[in-house]
Parts: sequence; structure tokens; C-alpha cells
Amino acid sequence: MNIKAIDKKYVLPTYARADVEFIKGENATLFDVDGKKYIDFTSGIGVVSVGHGNKRVADALCKQVSAITHISNLYYIEPQALAAQKVVEASGYDMQCFFGNSGAEANEGAIKIARKHGERDGEIKRYKIITLNHSFHGRTITTVKATGQESMHNYFGPFPDGFVYADGIEEIESLLDDHTAGVMIELIQGEGGVEPQDKEKVQKLAKLLKEKEIPLIIDEVQTGCYRVGEFTASQAYGIEPEIITLAKGVGGGVPVGIVMTTLKNVLSAGDHGSTFGGNYLSSRAVCEVVDILNERKASGDLEITSLLFNNALESFYKKYEDIFIQKVGFGMMCGLRVKDADTLTNIINAARQNGVMVLKAGRNTLRFLPPLTITKEEIDEGFEALSRAVSSL
Ligand SMILES: *Cc1c(COP(=O)(O)O)cnc(C)c1O
Repeated sequence: MNIKAIDKKYVLPTYARADVEFIKGENATLFDVDGKKYIDFTSGIGVVSVGHGNKRVADALCKQVSAITHISNLYYIEPQALAAQKVVEASGYDMQCFFGNSGAEANEGAIKIARKHGERDGEIKRYKIITLNHSFHGRTITTVKATGQESMHNYFGPFPDGFVYADGIEEIESLLDDHTAGVMIELIQGEGGVEPQDKEKVQKLAKLLKEKEIPLIIDEVQTGCYRVGEFTASQAYGIEPEIITLAKGVGGGVPVGIVMTTLKNVLSAGDHGSTFGGNYLSSRAVCEVVDILNERKASGDLEITSLLFNNALESFYKKYEDIFIQKVGFGMMCGLRVKDADTLTNIINAARQNGVMVLKAGRNTLRFLPPLTITKEEIDEGFEALSRAVSSL
């Protein structure tokens, strides 16, 4: 049996897989089983931030796993402490970290911190979490409920109570009450369609929540770890949230989720935990990825790459203004709105056939999340392939 048949027979059908099987990657270049080459403008949905097959990450992980991979959180774990230090220092915030294994899990941790913090005076139980419509916060029962999209709430109920959805940042104020434990938002909605929030509105909200002592949770699972130019999008927006969650790009391909917070004394021993979270393997990956990207930030390479990518995307957009209506995004989290949403799947399929991988977001957005290390040659080759794809339709 070939791999597709085995997958169909033994793996639950929760994904609509495209007909391609990759076996090797080098930075932003992928190779499939037939040796065909592709440029990767997806980085595995914003995960492979330092490129496929990154030598420094591979060497650090090989060295780590041949020494020790896992011992549980009952003991000190050197790379976990160092990863926390690196992440906190890169953010510039006065925070501490908890390590889990995914974005959803990081958001679960954030909600637990906000809710326990909300019970601080005992008298009023603050439990409500306000999130935005068109948001995406994960696939666990709680984070599905936190996600403000009706289509995600069709099955799986009853859900935990206390999630309230706002139509936009400006509607949040009117929804705050004595029971509000926290507000959780993405600064640039990813799955919702590469939708950046307005900076002034976000700053106003952050200020209001500080006055009311309601924690602001920023879901940076997609925007974090230099995706938008700064270590966190929160820094780019000039705000100081109480809680930030990270996942996707921060492990460079190794599963990791981090919740970091200024509320250091809310959780006590026993309140939260994870068997795998922050083990030697995943936290070593975080150390190496953050080091690599810190260096690229300091040298200016990160900004150059972002400029090159955005210039190439802009020229591509100008060339096909009959198909696309708007270029959107922030840093290396970019999108093109497609005039006719029905053509989006055709574009993505034609792109793959022509040797470039791109993503969908929301209803009508072609999404680009390239590795932050993508080279000029890879960018040019990718957009040439994308031009061929779009011209072929
Ligand atoms: C991907 C994503 C998540 C969920 O992360 P998982 O690792 O799939 O659990 C949560 N929030 C945002 C903003 C995301 O982009």
C-alpha cells in the first residue's frame, strides 16, 4: 500500500489533504517524493520560522536528545529555564513563562490565569472572557468556545460558560462588567483573514483595561516570535499586555506553546501543569530559534527579508489587480484579498502544481507566512511560480 492509502485507512479524516507528499526541505525550498521542487510561502502555517532543515536547530536538537530528552517537570530543566529567559528578554516585558505543547494549550493556560486572577477578592467571581468575532484561538473544547465563529460551535457542546464575543475592538468596552476576567484578542487575526487591528484602538483598549484591572490577553500564537518584525506584535503595537501566548514559530517545527504573564503570583504549585511541556527537546528548540532570530533582528537581516518579500508581493499584486483587490498584513504575515472568493482554491491548487505553496485565510484571502529566513532567490522563484499559476487560470 502506498502512503496515501495507508493514511486513508488508518488516520481519522479530519484534514482535507492536498495531493502532495514532501520528504525534504532546505530553508524555504521543499522537495516531494518525485523530486519536484517547491518554494514554501507557508512555513507549515507559520511554524518553520528559521527554515526547513535548519542546521543550527538540527545540531542543537541532536546533541540534546542524545544527552537527555525528557524527565518531567518534577525536576529542574536547564533549557526550559534558558528558553524562558530568552523569550522574556526578547519581549522586553517583566514576565514569567509556562510551557505547554501547542497554541490551544497556551491559550488554555492564559484563560486559567485570567480566571484565577478574577477570583482574587472572593466576593465577585470574575469569569467572563471577551473575544472577537472572526477570531481563532484553538481546537480544544474551551478554545473552540473562545473562538468567535459560530461555525466552530456546531458540535461538541455543552461548552464551558463565560465567553462573550465582540464585533470589533470598539465594542469591547460596552461588554465589560463586574464578571469580566479578561479580554483575549489577536492583534492581527490570522485564520480570520490576515486582519490587523487598528493601533490606536488597541492602545485605548489596553489603557482602559489597565484602569479596570482586567487582564489583556494577546494571542500571539501566529504573530509572535518576530513574524511581524518585533519579537511580539504587542511590542509593535506599543502595549503592555498582562498575558501573551506564543506557539507556532517559537519552536521552529518542534511542538511548543508558551503562556507568559506579568501576573506571576496567580498560579501556585499544582494549579497547572503539563507532562511534556518545556521538556529538553522542545525548550532546546526554543533556545536555538530565539537565538537565531535575535541575531537576524540585530543584524538587520530580518527587516531586509521582510522588505524584499513585501516588495515582491506588491509587484505581484500590481500585476494582477484584476484578480486581487487589496494587499494586507504586517511584517511577514501577509495576504492578498481575492476579488472572487470562488477562485481562491483554484489559485492555491495551481500554485502547488507550478511549484509554490500558499495558504488560505478567512473567506477570500490568499495568505503568505514564509520562513523568516527566506532568501531573495527563493522569493523571486516563488513569485515567478505564482505568476505562472495565476496566468494559467
Ligand atoms: C494556530 C493558532 C492557534 C492554535 O494553535 P494550535 O497549536 O493549533 O493549538 C491559536 N491561536 C492562533 C492565533 C493561531 O493562529
